[in-house]
Amino acid sequence: MSLLSINNLNLHYGTDSLPVRAVNGVSFDLNEGEALGIVGESGSGKTSLSLALMRLLPKNVCELSGTIYVNNQNVFDMEESEFRKTIRWKTISMVFQGSMNSLNPVIKVGSQIEEPLLLDKTLAKSTIRNRVSSLLNLVHLPEEIKNRYPHELSGGMKQRIMIAMALVMNPKIIILDEPTSALDVSTQAQMMNIFKDLKWEFGTSFIFITHDIGLASDLSDKIGVMYAGKLIELGKAEDVLDNPSHPYTQKLLSSVPSLHSETKPQFIAGEPPNMANLPHGCGFHPRCEFATQKCLDEEPYRFVIKEEHEAYCWLMEGKQ
Ligand code: SF4
Repeated sequence: MSLLSINNLNLHYGTDSLPVRAVNGVSFDLNEGEALGIVGESGSGKTSLSLALMRLLPKNVCELSGTIYVNNQNVFDMEESEFRKTIRWKTISMVFQGSMNSLNPVIKVGSQIEEPLLLDKTLAKSTIRNRVSSLLNLVHLPEEIKNRYPHELSGGMKQRIMIAMALVMNPKIIILDEPTSALDVSTQAQMMNIFKDLKWEFGTSFIFITHDIGLASDLSDKIGVMYAGKLIELGKAEDVLDNPSHPYTQKLLSSVPSLHSETKPQFIAGEPPNMANLPHGCGFHPRCEFATQKCLDEEPYRFVIKEEHEAYCWLMEGKQ
């Protein structure tokens, strides 16, 4: 049984003109201890997908449909109070993009980590102190850091504090939204090692949102490629990386520089689509060198390439 199961999720925002179709028919499963990398350009719907999972949506949502099951329970059937008590932060938590800048500048970081624990009146002060110390240890920070203010920490340290805060209620799933994008390369590598430790030692599941397919491959068991609000390719990491089937995935991979190759990284011509006015047929057709008339006329189906590897592209028709 999957820990998280999403089926045909749609999320659209109302605007003064046409609705912005941020998420369109997304489906995937996430098992315990599994990491799913969701890769795509800015504005492809990755963050909207994660906000739907956390039920942290703005007021202008005009369509929210499909199902999200967590531990076999449809979260869209739950009252907000029940969701807050049992799911948000307790079962699924999130490290938001750029969240290290949201630390309160006038409160010591240890107090910010322990805040949710203080709401549980059954916990002794010593238990809370020990929990904060063990969380700091998990994110490879010395215990004395808890007495510092955010401005006394580097960017990498602040990001580790955010991860400690996401872990405080012992969630089963952590959504990481571009968690390393503001960090230098060596701090980025340290952060990736922390995520791997959490995955192997505690069986934590991750949804790792990034525009960097190379970085996603470092942690992920499965990779989903998002374009125009759709998961246009999804599969085991090795299948997607070794045998990319959708032309957009192929382009993304060819844009990654390699130290051991003479081939220059390729850029992806054209612009991401306007999410309020998506192209007819395949959303990628204006940028696709293989586009045919059928691609302009009809939206491609889901084609299964092999077990647990699928893509939405007419090129797959008849090849299964
Ligand atoms: Fe390209 Fe057509 Fe496949 Fe879309 S369906 S990615 S336009 S070949």
